[in-house]
Amino acid sequence: MKTPVRVRFAPSPTGHLHIGGARTALFNYLFARQQNGVFILRLEDTDQARSSEDSVQMILADMQWLGLTWDEGPETGGDFGPYRQSERLQMYESKALQLLEQGKAYFCFCSPEEVEAKRQAALAQGGQPKYDGTCRALSPEQARQRIAPGASYAIRFKTPQTGETIINDCIRGRVVFDNSTLDDFVIVRSNGLPTYNFAAVVDDAAMEITHIIRGDDHLSNTPRQICLYQALGAPLPEFAHVPMILGPDKTRLSKRHGATSVGAYAEQGYLPEALVNYLALLGWSFDDKTTLFSMDELIEKFSLEKVSKNPAVFDPQKLLWMNGHYIRNIETDLYNERSRCELKKAGLVGNNPTQEEQVMATAAAGVVREKFKLMSELPQQVEYFFREPKLEALDEKSKNMLAGMKENPGLFKSLHEKLSMVESFSVSNLEALFKDFIEEKQVKFGALAHPLRVCLTGRMQSPGLFEIMEKMGKEKVLRRLASGMKAAGIL
Ligand code: GLU
Repeated sequence: MKTPVRVRFAPSPTGHLHIGGARTALFNYLFARQQNGVFILRLEDTDQARSSEDSVQMILADMQWLGLTWDEGPETGGDFGPYRQSERLQMYESKALQLLEQGKAYFCFCSPEEVEAKRQAALAQGGQPKYDGTCRALSPEQARQRIAPGASYAIRFKTPQTGETIINDCIRGRVVFDNSTLDDFVIVRSNGLPTYNFAAVVDDAAMEITHIIRGDDHLSNTPRQICLYQALGAPLPEFAHVPMILGPDKTRLSKRHGATSVGAYAEQGYLPEALVNYLALLGWSFDDKTTLFSMDELIEKFSLEKVSKNPAVFDPQKLLWMNGHYIRNIETDLYNERSRCELKKAGLVGNNPTQEEQVMATAAAGVVREKFKLMSELPQQVEYFFREPKLEALDEKSKNMLAGMKENPGLFKSLHEKLSMVESFSVSNLEALFKDFIEEKQVKFGALAHPLRVCLTGRMQSPGLFEIMEKMGKEKVLRRLASGMKAAGIL
């Protein structure tokens, strides 16, 4: 029987979940779901100074928002926990002890300053800036003698100095590292905490991770980690290093390129469906032409073989276009629900919207659905459905349009009268009414529609006038037309 797939996303909770991290999490998630495997979330929080609980909560919330639910991890639990490295310190200690006892690791008493000075000296002589192995030669007896009076020490791994370490990466192919370029790296710091390379390997082995899918900035760590696996006698997982993400100017994606955190995209009005779809295309493609994929389609079609070695370029315009597509195409119930949230945030409907507010929210959001690309634009688009337009604060054009009503006061009074007689304010009834009215009065449609639009919305542009009138309802339309006429001085 095939070993069940177990993959993990292992963020360090030192800030927001960024685009790159989210893409790595997504690839792990897709692979796990497709293989009926297990997706694990592990928090690499041993850097006490930089890790924070706030960051943990943001990462968990952003993962959930994206729909990347984990099977094992913080708050969910699982058989291989705990899932925070800060709660696994005993495990690292016992593995470090095991390596020390087997002579595969050693105590190092060199101070950070000494180590740095040696690295600099090596560099100056054109050599590799690596640890020179001073303490490698100490016998366990000599080490114990220095520890007894309280000397501070780190623990270093005895990296093989000859031979090669080979990675058969699912994406990069065969990558060969000459062991002589690897130094005896620290596995436990002088403060007793494990380093990333050590903790990650101890955990990946203990959690029986089968595939390590992560950013290719970790490729250079991989030979060290492979050596650790071998020293610990643990079976090697598969490795898949996904390409880095560049900004539109082809430099590494960073804050300079604008928002990079998932939370910021959510805040700006991107939909999780759009972000997931777009992230999947950062490095992966199905057939070079299909761009729209639902999560289910991604799960079905994703494969590591089709992930490119080459860096992916982040294109904000394409993401924006995609967001517009999802706004128009997600299920209507979901769209209505998200719309209500935006309208609440903007204070256009109450926190517990009344029935009337809910009906208006759905109607208004429906009318403008084709017109915008970010959910955060919705409140501005539909504000006039909820608030009377400020006729005293119109822009110049709208003001003139309103004032122009004075030229034919009777026309608008009689329109008001006609409208007040319509029983059902439906688009078709209104269409028929306007058609007759124009003919009777011998005016152009625009001569009526433009000023009326300003009365109803306070704007020169809006979606179809009849649609707006239908959604606003008779009472509001008549009231606003009357207010407009008053403002124009004809009532
Ligand atoms: N904590 C590491 C990071 O955030 C994890 C790298 C890995 O997946 O091994 O970069």
